[in-house]
Amino acid sequence: MQFKKVIGQEDVKRGLVQAVDDNRISHAQLFFGPPGAGALPLAIAYAQYISCTNKTDGDSCGMCAPCKQFENLQYPDLHFSYPFVNVGSRKPVADDFAEQWRKMLKETTYADVHHWRSKLDAENKQLTYNVEEASSISKKIWLKSYSGGYKFIVIWLCEYMTVYVANKLLKSLEEPPDKTIFLLISENPEALLATITSRTQSVKVRKLSDDEIRTALVLRDGVISNEKVEQLVQMADGNYFKAWLKLRQDEEDVHFELFVNWMRMCYKKDVAELVKISNDLHASGRENIKEFLDFALFMVRQCIVGNYTQGELSRFGPREAEFASKFAPFINSGNIFQLSELINQAYSDISGNVYSKLVLTDLSLNMHKALRRSVEQDA
Ligand SMILES: [Zn+2]
Repeated sequence: MQFKKVIGQEDVKRGLVQAVDDNRISHAQLFFGPPGAGALPLAIAYAQYISCTNKTDGDSCGMCAPCKQFENLQYPDLHFSYPFVNVGSRKPVADDFAEQWRKMLKETTYADVHHWRSKLDAENKQLTYNVEEASSISKKIWLKSYSGGYKFIVIWLCEYMTVYVANKLLKSLEEPPDKTIFLLISENPEALLATITSRTQSVKVRKLSDDEIRTALVLRDGVISNEKVEQLVQMADGNYFKAWLKLRQDEEDVHFELFVNWMRMCYKKDVAELVKISNDLHASGRENIKEFLDFALFMVRQCIVGNYTQGELSRFGPREAEFASKFAPFINSGNIFQLSELINQAYSDISGNVYSKLVLTDLSLNMHKALRRSVEQDA
């Protein structure tokens, strides 16, 4: 992530760049600020700037080998630590949740702790660091640097560390090996242990202004309607992540309504209406069609999960659950495979540039056959 992709915070960026250019890189820094202000993306952009081999105009170039690895979060000397849930009797470490973590960061680096919990399917569970994770971090800092440059240990929401766990890290924080940089991130510095704050240099990240969020919504997220932008800015109140999430939820609402209607029309084989749906989707563009098909696949799969778990659909809201309870009887072991295959095939056809109106009309008619098949089998 280049600095220019981080929303606002121009003064912080300038300070960070200046420190690197003056060769004043502190080995333990604490980026702290309110949720959704961008402490994590700033820390990542800072690490990328340090590692970039072709720094230009106060930013990383985005083109050199390290920059490309950073953009994919695959820079081998960029390590992440974050709170997680204890599962079973085995003591996990953060790397056990690396897949969910990377997936979330690829969606947005502005995510908050609630979003992280939902990614872990741990809405009601306590997030924590454990002693095993402290040892894992201590081991990582002694690994040889792959790049030959700096190694970064980014510790997200370090306020979740208990005194006991934090104490295990103190020695490393105080005297890390050469070319090792700790970047600690906190949304709640008051909850931080003095042992940590006293050993780190702090980088204060302030709440974003309405104007910064407004610009981000227009330029990053491509929101066109002024009214929509203003509504999101008001709601976000300086927290970009809130606006980001609301935007996605609204999109999902649109997908949900369309999905329900589409399934009904597929079942009834209302050809005129199905053609209209295909035309509307076609007009909405390929990326939107792919998102819709992704959503449809998720709904179909959840319906069958519901059949086997007596309706305990952890990832469904009440609205989705109500639909699934009515619709799940039409999806069963006899047709689930076929339904998923049809949607997957349509997805890959659309990705491969096949004419979407045809793909979608075809898909609808095949969905009809597959759905009816379940009824005939049951009868
Ligand atoms: Zn670069």
